[in-house]
Amino acid sequence: MNELISGGCSCEAVRYSLVGPLNDARSCHCSMCRRIFAAQASVCAEVDAERFQWVKGEDQLTSHVGEQGYGVQFCRHCGSTLSITYQGLIHSLTLGCVDGDPEVAIAQHIFVDSKASWEVIPETATQFDKYPE
Ligand SMILES: [Zn+2]
Ligand SMILES: [Zn+2]
Repeated sequence: MNELISGGCSCEAVRYSLVGPLNDARSCHCSMCRRIFAAQASVCAEVDAERFQWVKGEDQLTSHVGEQGYGVQFCRHCGSTLSITYQGLIHSLTLGCVDGDPEVAIAQHIFVDSKASWEVIPETATQFDKYPE
């Protein structure tokens, strides 16, 4: 489906839209993702840069770029983590900031062998100890 999908941060300073669908949603349980997203895991879906646009507040984003060229973009006011960039281009979106039902499911749980001791992943979920081959 090529539906318009929207999302934004918790204080609504930053808003975006994209032409769907969202693909390849993954939840990563590695220790870096748990810290970056302050949660049990990251949940992100890749997005095509040509189908994505910031509607409001792009200048309100702050970024942290890691050594491998991946960056995290978050709202400088409320701290919501909205997106991941790779070499400066939008790469994926955090599903937690997408509005409503974007009709996407988590296809893979990755780096499950480093998940937090207190997290229970449903047995029916597709899981990989590390990164899928
Ligand atoms: Zn905000
Ligand atoms: Zn990770």
